[in-house]
Amino acid sequence: MDHRFIPNLTDEKIADKQLEGLKWTAAHAYQGSPFYRSSMKEQGMEPGDIKTLDDIRKLPFTTAEDLKDGYPMPLLSVPEADVVRIHGSSGTTGKRKILAYTQNDIDVWKDMFARCYELAGLTVTDRVQICVGYGLWTAGVGFQLGCERFGAMALPVGPGLLEIQLQMLTDLKSTCLCSTASMALLMSEEVQKQGLADKIALKKVIFGAETHTPKMRKQFEEALGLEHSFDILGMTELYGPGTGLECMAHEGMHYWADIFIMEILDPDTLEPVAPGEVGEMVLTSLKKEASPLIRYRTHDLTRFIPGTCSCGLNMPRVDKIMGRSDDMFIFRGVNIYPGQIGSVLEGFGELSAEYQISLTRREGLDHMSVRVERLPGSGDGNDENLAKTVANEIRKHILVRSEVKIVGTGTLPRSFAKAKRVQDDRSEE
Ligand code: AMP
Ligand code: ZN
Repeated sequence: MDHRFIPNLTDEKIADKQLEGLKWTAAHAYQGSPFYRSSMKEQGMEPGDIKTLDDIRKLPFTTAEDLKDGYPMPLLSVPEADVVRIHGSSGTTGKRKILAYTQNDIDVWKDMFARCYELAGLTVTDRVQICVGYGLWTAGVGFQLGCERFGAMALPVGPGLLEIQLQMLTDLKSTCLCSTASMALLMSEEVQKQGLADKIALKKVIFGAETHTPKMRKQFEEALGLEHSFDILGMTELYGPGTGLECMAHEGMHYWADIFIMEILDPDTLEPVAPGEVGEMVLTSLKKEASPLIRYRTHDLTRFIPGTCSCGLNMPRVDKIMGRSDDMFIFRGVNIYPGQIGSVLEGFGELSAEYQISLTRREGLDHMSVRVERLPGSGDGNDENLAKTVANEIRKHILVRSEVKIVGTGTLPRSFAKAKRVQDDRSEE
């Protein structure tokens, strides 16, 4: 394969780069960061103990709690004068995270992101409409940097601003849209509503930042007349978006294993799960200078996809992120991930991908209600039956009782960013 940005690496070469990067990162963090130095000492190890890739297991874990403790410059491993930028995230679970970048960090990120556009099959004549947050967030600036590095045309609209988005789609003929899956769904509904489908030239959507369901994806792919859509991997702690992307084979996301190491561990035992099993993604950066990551527990759940990809690219793959281990809620003693409800709804052709779970407590007992939208164009005649069937399926698969309500298209709140699926109003009694 002839690539401008994606390196052509054998497994051995990737492993060499990983070992070299791991040794460098451990030594750099030990030297530069009092936090990492003391956490390595506590673990009874020092950087010189890293001799093989397996020795990664000697390194201590880093958690979101550690980021909070080090606020506002957690994990800083270089003199402040070398920091050229910071980014922040509210954190998917509500904890503010601020991470620092050196110029070299920005350059690595930019090249890595350019690889993503290349993997998605874009060329320099593509027009990339970026509909994610600019500012403190990593999203907007990440998509933008990568796009400019790659050489395509960036249309930096930001999230929301529906009218401007549609104008860009129809007047500038954007060919690639970058957004959350929720936002892509919202835009596709608007394109349909305003009858713009044959006035736009979109071919691809790159979506990320939140979990999606195949149904959601199919819905916007069809409504926008896409050739492909691609799930993108990323988090503020590890540069931002662009750390991995689906290829055109759509058999999972390739991630850039020469830039970071991914482990998938059992969240309870912190031991590796069996190949192909679901576990928590744990990340170690190999080149990050300002805020390196050492065995950072992401709480994101996914699995490795074994084997080589039919696209021919030799970079390991992970499945889409299925949820976060801290997204889980406990309902009447049962551990539930919102995505499990989403999966049950997948089976119903009459229902859309939009749903919301609401948890309340009445007289000491928890109640769950699930509201789900009808597909546009389908009538409400069958709602009651459908609701019963869905509730039965939920009971069958997740073993809990719920009250299901089918609502009209467009009733549930839409999101320009990450959709919030669970409303938990059970107050502590
Ligand atoms: P942030 O802290 O704002 O950078 O968001 C990072 C978090 O968003 C990750 O830890 C994931 O929980 C979630 N996330 C990012 N990309 C995806 C994706 N493609 N699919 C599912 N969840 C994602
Ligand atoms: Zn592939």
